[in-house]
This record gives sequence, structure tokens and C-alpha cells, in this order.
Amino acid sequence: MIIKLNKNISESQKEQIHSALKAEGVAFSEVSPCDGDIIIAKSRAGLGTDFINNLSGIEEITPDKTSFKLVARENHPADTLVKVGPVTIGGEKIIVISGPCAVESHEQTLSIAKEVKKYGAVILRGGAFKPRSSPYSFQGLEEDGLKILADVREETGMPVATEMTAPSQADMMMKYVDMIQIGARNMQNFELLKCVGSLNKPVMLKRGLSATIEEWLMSAEYIMAGGNTQVVICERGIRTFEPYTRNTLDLSAIPVVKSLTHLPILIDPSHATGIREKVAPMARAAIAAGADALMIEVHNNPAKAASDGAQSLLPAQFGKLMRDIYVIAPVINKQVDFGYLEKAAVIDKSTEAQGKKLKAVFQGEMGAPDHKAARQYFGEDIELSPLNSSRSVIEAVTENKSDYGLIPLEHSMSGSVHENYDLLIENNLKIIGEITLRIEYILAGVEGTIAKEITSVISSPTAFHHCDKYMEIHSDWQLLYAQDTATAASQIKQENDKTSATITTKEAATMYGLQIIEEGIETSPRNYTRFAVIAKEQKEHGQKKKSSIIYQTSDKPGALLKTLSIFAENNINLLKLESRPVDGRPWEYMFYVDIETSADDDSFTPVLKALKENTDYLHILGVY
Ligand code: PEP
Ligand code: MN
Repeated sequence: MIIKLNKNISESQKEQIHSALKAEGVAFSEVSPCDGDIIIAKSRAGLGTDFINNLSGIEEITPDKTSFKLVARENHPADTLVKVGPVTIGGEKIIVISGPCAVESHEQTLSIAKEVKKYGAVILRGGAFKPRSSPYSFQGLEEDGLKILADVREETGMPVATEMTAPSQADMMMKYVDMIQIGARNMQNFELLKCVGSLNKPVMLKRGLSATIEEWLMSAEYIMAGGNTQVVICERGIRTFEPYTRNTLDLSAIPVVKSLTHLPILIDPSHATGIREKVAPMARAAIAAGADALMIEVHNNPAKAASDGAQSLLPAQFGKLMRDIYVIAPVINKQVDFGYLEKAAVIDKSTEAQGKKLKAVFQGEMGAPDHKAARQYFGEDIELSPLNSSRSVIEAVTENKSDYGLIPLEHSMSGSVHENYDLLIENNLKIIGEITLRIEYILAGVEGTIAKEITSVISSPTAFHHCDKYMEIHSDWQLLYAQDTATAASQIKQENDKTSATITTKEAATMYGLQIIEEGIETSPRNYTRFAVIAKEQKEHGQKKKSSIIYQTSDKPGALLKTLSIFAENNINLLKLESRPVDGRPWEYMFYVDIETSADDDSFTPVLKALKENTDYLHILGVY
């Protein structure tokens, strides 16, 4: 059982608790993992908690359900976030760790780091102490390898992770790296676990070759019991009877572990399969199954790799995998952020300069899709506040009351949000980034609401539109309109009427304590909203790959074609082309154009000149 002690418990109160435990023959230890002290007691079946219930100085007693305690989700329902330098593992962004199996040289490590960073990896891995099956195999560059990792971190801005194989390496790890890996073969090296448990450094704990989930989590418990709460657990394949792959990747461990523990889970398909061609399919499956992070071995010359060449992807293969994961992520409500490190650096630098957190505003209530989009774009290091309209968002950014704003620009079902485009142009704000969210809707009501008894439903006009097929089935319901889905959910909670329900999001229903009546009611499962992140000036948030332009052509035959041929002649890929009427000038049109290039680059200057010559009006909305 876990006995949480009061913050101001006296020594004599503690003594009494210790004596009561001793009198029952219960072994125990006291640890201080998070906020305040706790006693972990090894109770036996049927003992109960009666013998200490009435003692003073106790805040809470949690009886045992599982043998692991500090790692158990039942004792800590919220997901744990693990910080590795500027990177957070366990949030809504998928984290990809990549690099060679072993650090071989400065040149090799730096060149692989640059490649994997370019494709979206945010933490660099590389072994300096290699636990090899044969004593004659390459054992790693040891401290020289760690120094290379530290140098490459300086050169690339990527935090670094490496394996520690003995407690004697602790000081070196503290000095050179950002995350310590405990390898599969050391999962039950308890002295090593105790050692990393006492360090102030995040740990990635690999599952042992033949370890059960229980044993694996007990090893994580060792690290947490030592006071280190920053633990990521890593499934890297287990040994089975199957020889076609190096190991068998236990993907079913993901949902099992997610319900048992609050710690983030990382999947290593490289060691799990041991075969290059099998890595990407398993990586994609792991993300679909709910993994928080991936670790992928990449080598620029796998045939010559000092270790694990056969399972190392070539940089370009890694790039393709990252693009696939980028597409899969929003389906399961997560994101791959290709500008992660650059964005973190900008936020960090400006936060430091201002002495306070940067601010971003969005339209709607907490729990609305706009809030989620803001959270997924900015992560945890920025202050997010809701405002009641897109106009207020634009005003807050224009008047410097907020550093950033977030507004919806396009729905996959209903097209562009023209009024937001207009607001951007009127106020001369810049799009500096974008984020796409899959929007799923549910029907929710207060507890006890039954679908058959519902007579009215409240939601936003957009949500009703996105659920039009479902609404046709329920055409007898009276429709009531709210500003957004989160406001609708809060209204249903306040009214507490079982004949009224709301079409809202799962997040909003959870936030307002509503019961889900039906899920997946949106007409198209491919229902996405694209949000623009806006600021007063163009900011560096990662590689700029895309530009949004708006222009009006003159009323001449072939005028639009002329502008499009400029893009074609310059080999510029068009991502979006949409026309809309010009306000007050019937039958004249504006064109929204998104192109796959940076309009900030010098190479774009002649293109821009040619476009200007062939348009009456041209405005660059942003480069991102
Ligand atoms: C490694 O990550 O390179 C490694 C040795 O992994 P594992 O401990 O899973 O075999
Ligand atoms: Mn390896």
C-alpha cells in the first residue's frame, strides 16, 4: 500500500506509523518522489488498512492493486511528461529519437544527426558503451564517444541519449548527455537501476529480452523509488520462438502499459525486427497503437556500420517514414512537429528576454478544438487563453496583447473560413505556422441521458454541418445554437436536463463531466480543420516549406492562366487554389494560392516580380 504523509507531519506522528507497520510485520520504506513524502509498505493479502486508518499525519492510504506503486496509473492518473532538454516526451507531440547504433566518429555522428534532424528527429541517439554479445565485437568509443555526442549537441541543438552500462559511468553521463538509456540486457541490473534512480537525468528503460510487463514495470519502479520520476519505458522486442525477425515486437504492450502506468512509452522497431525493411511498417503501427515516441537507428553507410547496420535505415528512408507518421498522427489526435527544436528555441529565447511566458490566444472555450490545436502547436511552454471571437484574437495580436494567435482557416468538409482570411489581410498579420486537427464529434449529455428521450440538441453551426447525416436521422430534435462545441457542453452541464444533449468533442465532454452517448457521429471520418498560427511579424518556426498568397488578376482573358504558368515555369508546386468573390465588386474574384516553396528565399524574387506584373493586387499572407 502507499501511505501519503501530510506535508507538516511531525517526527512523533511518523514514529507511530512506523511502529504500527512494524507491529504488523509489514516491511516498508519511505521515499519522496514527487510532492511530499510517502511510505511504501509491502502489505500482505487480507491485511487491509484498519490498523493505521486512525493514526494522525496521514493524508491518504492507497491499498495495493498492483505490485508496482509509483509507476501505477491508479495512483497517478495523469500522464507523466518527461523533459529531455527542450523536448517533452508524453504529450500530444510524437517524439522521434534517431541516430546510429554506435558513435563511430565525430564526422559520422554529425552527418547522421544533421540528416535525421532535417527529417524531424528531435533527440539524437548513439551508443558509446555498447553491450555486445561477443567480447570481440566493437565495444564503443566510451568517454570519447560521449564527448562526440556533447559536441554534436552543440552543433545541431539536438539533445542526446546514450546507453549507460555501469554505475561507475554516472558522472560522465551527468556531464555529457541529456537522457540515459538502460539497455535490454540491463533491465534487471538492480544496482544500475538504483544508480540512475538517484540521478537527476531522464531515463529510457528498455524491456528485457524475456521480461514480462510486470517485471519491466517493476524495474521502472526501482528508478522511481530512488526519486527519479523522469522515466520513459521502451519496448524493443522480446525473444520468442520466431526466427524470421531478430525479436518479436510486442505491440500489444502499448495499450496494456498505457492503462497500467502513467509513464510514456517509446517503441524501438529497429532492435525489435533487426531488418531494415521491417522497421517502417512496425514504426507506423506503433504510432497507430498509441506510442508516445519512437527510436529508429539510422546510418549513412549501413554496410560499414560498426554495429546493427542490417537494421539501420538510410537517411532518405527515415525521411519517408517521418512523412508517413506526420500523416498518421492527427488520426489519433497527435502531431509530428517538423519545427519542434526551432520553435522551442524561439519560445525559450523570447521567454527569457521577457522574463515571462509567451502568450497565445485562440477563439472559443478551453476544451474546444481551437484550444487543442494551440496546445498541440505550442506544447507546454506557452500561456494559452481563450477569447470569444476570431476578431478578438486578431486584435489581441495586433495590439501586442498576445505574441501569437490561432484561427481556423479551412475545414475539409466546408472549405475556407473567408472571414478569417479577410481579418488577416485587413490587419496585415502574418501566418507563421499551421496545424491540422482531425475533428471527431460525439453526442453527450448529463449522466443518465438516454438517446430515445432527447428532444433538443445544442452545438455550433459548424459541428451541425459536419454531422449532417447524423442530424438527418434525428430530424425530430430541436436545434439550438452555441458559439462553439465547448460552450455547448458547458451549457448542457449547467442546465442539467436529460432531454437535452450536445454535439461536442470528447475533450469538452470530459472537461464538463458529461457522459458520452454516441461516438464517431461526424459525416466523414476524414474531417479535418486547418488552423493558422499568426503573429505580427514573420518568426522562425522551423524550415519554411510553404507560402500562402492571395491575389486578384485583371479582368482579361487568360489572366489567371498567366499567373499559374509563372508557377509552372519556375517548377513551383501548387498546394491550394481557390477563388472567392471580391466584396462589393460582383463577378470579380480573388485567388487563394498555397505554394510549396518559401516566398522569403531570394530565388523567389523574380517569381514575385512576374506575379506582380500580372495581378492587380497581391499580398503574401505568410511563409511557414
Ligand atoms: C541499442 O539501443 O543500441 C541497444 C543495444 O539496444 P537493446 O538494449 O534494446 O538491445
Ligand atoms: Mn543498436
